[in-house]
Amino acid sequence: MDRILVHICCGVDSVYALRKLKEDYPNSEIVGYFYDPNIHPEEEFELRWIETKRVCDDLGIECIKGDYELETWLNAVKGYENEPERGERCTICHDLRLSKSAQVAKQLGCNKITTVLMMSPKKDFEVLKEVGERVADEYGLEFLAVDFRKNGGTQIMNQLSKESQLYHQNYCGCIYGLFGQRKNVEFYPELVSFGKGRLAGSREELLFTKQVRLFAESLGLKCKEEEFSFIGWRVLSSSVKLNKDYVDHKVLPYSATIKGIVRATVLDIKDNRVVLNKENVEVILTEELKEPVLQEPRIFTKPTFILPNVVNVGDKLEFQLKTEFDPSMKSQNLYIGNLDSFEELKEFYSDTDSEGKQGYTLKEICNFIEENKDKIKEGQLLVVVYGANLVGQLGKRTFPIYNLKF
Ligand code: SF4
Repeated sequence: MDRILVHICCGVDSVYALRKLKEDYPNSEIVGYFYDPNIHPEEEFELRWIETKRVCDDLGIECIKGDYELETWLNAVKGYENEPERGERCTICHDLRLSKSAQVAKQLGCNKITTVLMMSPKKDFEVLKEVGERVADEYGLEFLAVDFRKNGGTQIMNQLSKESQLYHQNYCGCIYGLFGQRKNVEFYPELVSFGKGRLAGSREELLFTKQVRLFAESLGLKCKEEEFSFIGWRVLSSSVKLNKDYVDHKVLPYSATIKGIVRATVLDIKDNRVVLNKENVEVILTEELKEPVLQEPRIFTKPTFILPNVVNVGDKLEFQLKTEFDPSMKSQNLYIGNLDSFEELKEFYSDTDSEGKQGYTLKEICNFIEENKDKIKEGQLLVVVYGANLVGQLGKRTFPIYNLKF
């Protein structure tokens, strides 16, 4: 029996291509191999993997996750950083990914290989065919050059991807492609990694939601995501000096940028509020320094700093703050169970502060789902994982049963 190894780059490109291969080769065994060493940053790699896994699980196709071999990829494309998309760098990138796929295909005893990259309208089909055939030849394999886009393939892919609520990436995957796509910008939000933090509207928050969804779907539970937009906010840089020494601090969400430096003297301290001789900055003192959580949404506020309880009357303070507002930030709620009729509701949220604190762990939510899977299946219990909770319970506010006031 034929064994076909399919190189997979993401969920969107595989959702139709794998179906088509199953149809065209009904008597062959298909194995997926997710190999994306070109992706930046690693959270994006994980997100594409989760979505690939969801697609493969749905189709009953085994999929192997390749290692994140970023350094290998960076070395391979050295000297071709400024090549345009579809240029020489992309040919090297295809070559690297298909060569590794061919090696894995040999190890797994496959006799044919192909790639879902041939689904993407941004890739040159002829180049992929040429690279694929050459690589396959080197390893004694047959390359299946299938133009998945033909005969309405792209439209079917879009439709299937919408139905499965797959994550749509807005760049091919590498930093160089992104630099070429968006020139002269100061900041690339796609390349920011928060590590453990899952800030509202971040890729980490979305990745967490998708991980919960993958788990719930693996138990056969019905899931639905609902996206919503909000005005996002982030700190680009901030510093506070107390009597010339830098001091640890937090910034109240939605604080505006300070132009230049504000220097101020402490006139008084009333409860936890610091009275300064300048009115354009606020200071709140706290025993335990942690990131503030908003119970109500905010749009814009005076630059407000949270400092430890070490400030005294007469102290000199110096503030700098650069923040950014993003009017098109997106987050999402995840509903697990029957949204139209349920007796009980269990609520979680997906975001955390920037240090990964003040939120739930994946284990906590997955354990609850597993323990209650029968109740969820029977429609008694609905589990909701709200997005953007720490910035004013925004996900909860979009949920129809609540009538929280703005
Ligand atoms: S733009 Fe895409 S195909 Fe080209 S090098 Fe970057 S990741 Fe690879």
